[in-house]
Amino acid sequence: MQESKLKLLVVDDDDVDRERIRRMLNAANVDVEIEEAIDARESISILNDCEYDCIIVDYRLGETDGLSLLNSIRTTLAKQCAVIMVTGLGDEQVAAEAMRLGASDYLIKNELKTPQLLSAILGAVHKADLKKQLHALAHYDALTGLVNRPLLIDRIDQAISLSTRADTLSALAFIDLDNFKPVNDKYGHQAGDAVLVEIANRLKSGLRQYDTVSRIGGDEFVILLTGLENLSECELLLERIRIVVNAPIALDRANFTRVSASIGVALIKRCELNADTMLRRADQSMYLAKKSGKNRVIFFDPEEESKFQERRHLLERVELGLENNEFELYYQPKVNLLENKLIGLEALIRWHHPEKGLQAPWYFVDALEHATLGISIGEWVLKTVIEQLSQWNKCGLDITVSINISVVHLQDEGFVEQLEAYIKETPDVQANQIELEILESSSIKNMDTVIGILQTCRAIGVKIALDDFGTGYASLSYLKKLPLDTLKIDKSFIINMLDDSGNQVIVESIIALSKAFGYELIAEGIETAEHVSMYTDMGGMCGQGFAIAHPMPSHDVLKWVQDYEDLAV
Ligand code: C2E
Ligand code: MG
Ligand code: MG
Repeated sequence: MQESKLKLLVVDDDDVDRERIRRMLNAANVDVEIEEAIDARESISILNDCEYDCIIVDYRLGETDGLSLLNSIRTTLAKQCAVIMVTGLGDEQVAAEAMRLGASDYLIKNELKTPQLLSAILGAVHKADLKKQLHALAHYDALTGLVNRPLLIDRIDQAISLSTRADTLSALAFIDLDNFKPVNDKYGHQAGDAVLVEIANRLKSGLRQYDTVSRIGGDEFVILLTGLENLSECELLLERIRIVVNAPIALDRANFTRVSASIGVALIKRCELNADTMLRRADQSMYLAKKSGKNRVIFFDPEEESKFQERRHLLERVELGLENNEFELYYQPKVNLLENKLIGLEALIRWHHPEKGLQAPWYFVDALEHATLGISIGEWVLKTVIEQLSQWNKCGLDITVSINISVVHLQDEGFVEQLEAYIKETPDVQANQIELEILESSSIKNMDTVIGILQTCRAIGVKIALDDFGTGYASLSYLKKLPLDTLKIDKSFIINMLDDSGNQVIVESIIALSKAFGYELIAEGIETAEHVSMYTDMGGMCGQGFAIAHPMPSHDVLKWVQDYEDLAV
């Protein structure tokens, strides 16, 4: 509602009529400021510079009629203020037309009296205010005041059609904040909201007036840059955006925080695609920006598009495969090479692809590492191994199985509880029959979290191995902090050591290191008898590899174990 002085514009070519309205309102004792215009042209130029709460337009306005002025107010000028049309007696048809064109009300000139005029004005202003609020709700984000998704889509569509008609260049940039969630978690939602508002303001002030800035999700913003001169202007603007987002944000007097922006860009140039497709392209590029290290701008590339489609197809196919029971665990023996004794098995996942046949994990590694699907697969692996252990226990094969755990699964909330629950559901399986293999490269990120999780695992009796050791650049001090039982030398060092002294030195050092730290050691990639002898000569003891056995289906394991032990006797 109006809190301050009402601003009124009276458009009438008749001096006497304008004066009459002014007198009536003065008599009404309301706080009103009245501006006058004598024709359409003058009123349009006034309206270009100034906002009014209500415009009173005479239907008969000299050469142009009031209706066409009303039309311009609503369409060309896009004003949403109250407009009251004043008509002569007998012009009811005009009145109806005026309402259709967006007039708030109409008044008959001869019957005009102060109370009636005043109530018409106040009513019309009130109605216009409500309309403005509705319009804002429908088109703007309540928190930041930025354009919302439906209005954004409209603007993108406009940019697309302009790009074909007038050969213009526009750019659609999808921005996802990096590190926003920790701010929310640490300082609360109110602080999170304040950060979003601050970022919204920075985006707006970093851009030109006619660019569109929109928020379409929690910490997701989209900007539409139109009328670009060339690509480098676009790059420059986006770089500026990236930098302003990155500046520190004051939460209060004592606390500062910082977020950054991963930005994906789709260019709109002579483009035949629709707004949804453009948004998807920008979104995909944003995802690449995140994946390649965050806080950067990446432009959409059609080659990436096809990789993206392939990936999405694969993920869908894996999800279906999981439902259809197309996965199987193979098991590879780990042995003590000096005593020819079986010490454990490593579970390795395989996929019986209905068309492509048996697939090794590299084929679906995207699924193994996917934020949600990777967890579903991981849980299936855990459950399957534990059931298998129970069966082997019943057959008298008391053995440890190592399970490869993806980072996403390991760091999933409730991972340890779930693991513990699976073990408890199967009472004849002991926690110490399970070893988790964690990739060296993946455990370095979020190290403190990982250490905590591994500690709880060990507390319930589960063992921990560091997989592919030597490839992940873990420092010695880091190695000391990790709660580990076993190191696994990456197979590349073993496979290549026979004729490469550099790899020999590495293997020897890792053997010494494991002894110094008191860790068990297993060599992967024992492919030949030469590997066995060189490795054991160096002081190594345990290993796995094709020279001992290839990974095999579970139903082959018992027989293999018997044959192997017979041989050892
Ligand atoms: P990894 O854990 O390092 O497993 C050892 C890989 O080396 C296995 O490949 C195994 O088949 C292969 N291998 C064993 N002996 C030899 C040898 O003598 N020479 C050579 N060249 N290779 C040998 P695989 O089964 O293809 O698995 C590849 C990787 O996929 C694994 O590496 C592991 O990181 C991952 N993976 C396997 N199963 C699972 C699973 O159930 N869950 C998760 N998250 N990852 C898995
Ligand atoms: Mg492994
Ligand atoms: Mg390995």
